Amino acid sequence: MSNKSLLFRALLRSATTATRSPSSIVHRQFGAFSISSSITPKRYASSKHPKGFEPPSQSDLAELRERVQEFTRREMTEEVASNTDKTNNFPHEMWAKLGDAGLLGITADEEVGGLGMGYQAHCIVMEELSRASGSIALSYAAHSQLCVNQLQLNGNDAQKQKYLPDLIAGTKVGALAMSESGSGSDVVSMRTRATEVDGGYVLTGSKMWITNGPDADVIVVYAKTDPQGGSKGITAFIVEPKSSPGFTCLRKLDKMGMRGSNTGELVFDNVFVPKENVLGQINGGVRVLMEGLDLERLVLSAGPLGLMQAALDVALPYAHSRKQFGTPIAHFQLLQGKLADMYTKLQASRAYTFTIARTVDEHGIIRTQDCAGAILYAAERATECALDCIQILGGMGYTEEMPASRILRDAKLYEIGAGTSEVRRMVIGRAFNKEYAHLSN
Ligand SMILES: Cc1cc2nc3c(=O)[nH]c(=O)nc-3n(C[C@H](O)[C@H](O)[C@H](O)COP(=O)(O)OP(=O)(O)OC[C@H]3O[C@@H](n4cnc5c(N)ncnc54)[C@H](O)[C@@H]3O)c2cc1C
Repeated sequence: MSNKSLLFRALLRSATTATRSPSSIVHRQFGAFSISSSITPKRYASSKHPKGFEPPSQSDLAELRERVQEFTRREMTEEVASNTDKTNNFPHEMWAKLGDAGLLGITADEEVGGLGMGYQAHCIVMEELSRASGSIALSYAAHSQLCVNQLQLNGNDAQKQKYLPDLIAGTKVGALAMSESGSGSDVVSMRTRATEVDGGYVLTGSKMWITNGPDADVIVVYAKTDPQGGSKGITAFIVEPKSSPGFTCLRKLDKMGMRGSNTGELVFDNVFVPKENVLGQINGGVRVLMEGLDLERLVLSAGPLGLMQAALDVALPYAHSRKQFGTPIAHFQLLQGKLADMYTKLQASRAYTFTIARTVDEHGIIRTQDCAGAILYAAERATECALDCIQILGGMGYTEEMPASRILRDAKLYEIGAGTSEVRRMVIGRAFNKEYAHLSN
């Protein structure tokens, strides 16, 4: 039996013991959105997918969504989400639960424990986890996309065999370290150095804002192997921080949102990395980084989708049960306008993300400007939806007794992480500059 069917079976089995809450009705009502399936999928594997990859059908994807909803209803309740936010601590037992459910290797090879289901599936999982808890989902994405998928795409067979099974099982935690305190948007100006020594490289420098950094067992780290080489002087390395003398997590950052998704500042003080842990080519790190960023933006664009859905999950029942002037507030046209805007923004963002993910799955085409566009659009709409949700809830929206404030604080991250809104606009603008270069000369 394939891993895919095992996932469905495992999730189905546990679903039978789960109680159905009234919120499941809301889940079903707004959970599924299917893009027109009139296009006959091209069934071929692209280099961005495991060998023999076949794009999932829309009914496979709908089933996956339902199974993930069952998982979140059971394991990522509002209590878990609220507690994660309030304590600012990741619930570590969640890694094994996500692993048992088969959710940590959605895009990875079946032979290392993955599901090989592609990017539409990964976006669905990311959306549904974000709907339950923005911060658990952010850590999930750093693990399953930034680390697992980077290893899947760029690792050699030995590296995949060594690292992916434990990461996919959830017994090891993954992260990716690219940003530094002095180089965020201008990532190529990074200063972390990797100097060649006998048998490998020595890493010196520091990395900032690294999701899962305080907990990680495996980190994909970018460093300069040729400081004079600019973008052609960067290499990616696989680092095992817990067994690497010289590595420290200097501090865990105290953030306004995404609390409980542990973010760290990491220091590399002459950390030895064996040469077999070079990921991709020496000085070829920018290709790894940029391609990784495209797919990272695509999968992360499903985060704001989940948060917009979460805002509707809170606002709709509240607006229909809260009465003022003897009338449910949802019947006032000014509030109907807000609810309609929230709903429309969600559906438009969802359509963009899933169209792009489907193009990657079915045609192997990754358009940088659309990966940036999908997250640019969804992230800004999610902040707006979260603000509307607070407004609809009135005084209750401004308290920490309701999830609205958490949704807003979590949503804002998506305008900053994985490249800011300004940088995404720059990326789209540059694509036009290239396309229309002949008219500028
Ligand atoms: C919670 C969180 C998690 C993160 N996780 C990770 C992770 O796991 N791994 C990792 O490597 N990084 C991670 N990051 C880092 C993130 O990618 C950077 O914060 C982001 O790229 C922005 O860089 P910066 O913070 O240095 O901002 P800066 O680059 O200093 O930007 C500051 C402002 O200037 C604007 N700006 C910069 N350049 C331009 C320009 N050319 N034109 C117009 N405006 C410009 C920006 O848009 C922004 O508004 C994370 C960040 C956060 C907050």
